[in-house]
Amino acid sequence: MDKFDICIAGAGVLGLAVAYQLSCSSTHKNKSIVIVDKENSFGQITSSRNSEVIHAGIYYASNSLKALFCVAGKRLLYEHLEKFNLPYKKTGKLIIAQENEIDALYNIEKKAIENHVTDLRFITGGELRKVEPNLKATAALLSPTTGIFDSHAYMQSLLHLAAQNGVTFSPYTEIRAVGLNTGSFKVAASLNHKENEQSYEFECDQFINCAGLDAQKLARQIEGVKKSSIPELHPCKGDYFAYTGVSPFHHLIYPIPEKNHTGLGIHSTLDIGGQTRFGPDTTYVDKLNYDINPNKKVKFLNAIRRYFPAAEEGRLHPAYSGIRPKIVGPGEAADDFKIHDAQVHGVPGLIQFFGMESPALTASLAIGNHVVKLLN
Ligand SMILES: Cc1cc2nc3c(=O)[nH]c(=O)nc-3n(C[C@H](O)[C@H](O)[C@H](O)COP(=O)(O)OP(=O)(O)OC[C@H]3O[C@@H](n4cnc5c(N)ncnc54)[C@H](O)[C@@H]3O)c2cc1C
Repeated sequence: MDKFDICIAGAGVLGLAVAYQLSCSSTHKNKSIVIVDKENSFGQITSSRNSEVIHAGIYYASNSLKALFCVAGKRLLYEHLEKFNLPYKKTGKLIIAQENEIDALYNIEKKAIENHVTDLRFITGGELRKVEPNLKATAALLSPTTGIFDSHAYMQSLLHLAAQNGVTFSPYTEIRAVGLNTGSFKVAASLNHKENEQSYEFECDQFINCAGLDAQKLARQIEGVKKSSIPELHPCKGDYFAYTGVSPFHHLIYPIPEKNHTGLGIHSTLDIGGQTRFGPDTTYVDKLNYDINPNKKVKFLNAIRRYFPAAEEGRLHPAYSGIRPKIVGPGEAADDFKIHDAQVHGVPGLIQFFGMESPALTASLAIGNHVVKLLN
């Protein structure tokens, strides 16, 4: 039977960042590491269905993992993109307020300072009209370190660099059960390449559950995990509409976030090719279905026209959607990332991620470093 020191389940951005950071660390670089994914390649699920925004770390609860890892991860991510010559743009972001929302901007600035994001700047009147002539807003907070990047190229680089350091990637490999075997894990997987389905069993000493929307399902398949430690999954879908033609904005434009930070409001982002897209909205769902209802256009137009009155209906088209792996339901206050070790679930050598929604893409390298420390 094959034996690895470490198995990472899930090759989304978090599994890849964990694999990369482990493979670079002085403590784990000589270990045998395998990263498996049930899909035919890496990053096929939530990691390729998001806004590709490098968040500054503004809104999250003080001292939360989201705040700490976002601020640290943003710095590591920019360094990585620069070092490996990967596409990114520090576009900056404007959090905008209409007449009756100015107090909310002050609260956001206060929260940002608590999170050590100290470079926000108020813009009003003539200056705001000059930087964004198509924008309707009374005031805005400029976040200069918010940016956009090519998340696929980033994930590709993590996999490539980890592979150079000896990490093995196994696509088409779905983990079905994990048993305990005196100090190691016995992993039962199914290899689903083309029409062929084969079973494959291997052993590992440490196991990391980075299965995203399937993390809860996988956790229930791991022997010894306290069922009470597994938080309930509340999938929350976000749809995007693309806006064709020349982009109306130079910055990313964000309205005041939704109550409980369920989402950040239907905002305007740019992709690295300069295309504008609006979204994502927030809808709690029972099934993981990525279809977009084209009739949502009216709802999107109404939201967008609050800050972009000249938005043209004919230029707005359904684009794609993503599903947030939330662990809080509708109306509940936002919760933090959950990174569980044996103290929480009772199984030594096992680490599990739950609720890894935004800003986990931004935070990925910092989260990878955290796992290196947990495994030491
Ligand atoms: C609409 C939306 C917008 C977002 N925008 C941003 C943003 O702008 N900036 C930001 O920082 N973050 C953003 N995020 C958050 C970010 O996209 C996610 O936090 C991140 O992609 C999560 O990565 P992951 O590796 O945990 O999950 P995933 O990418 O879902 O990876 C999990 C992997 O596990 C695999 N898997 C599952 N079960 C098994 C199994 N049993 N065996 C083997 N493999 C398995 C899956 O195939 C999948 O590849 C956004 C999220 C959404 C939904």
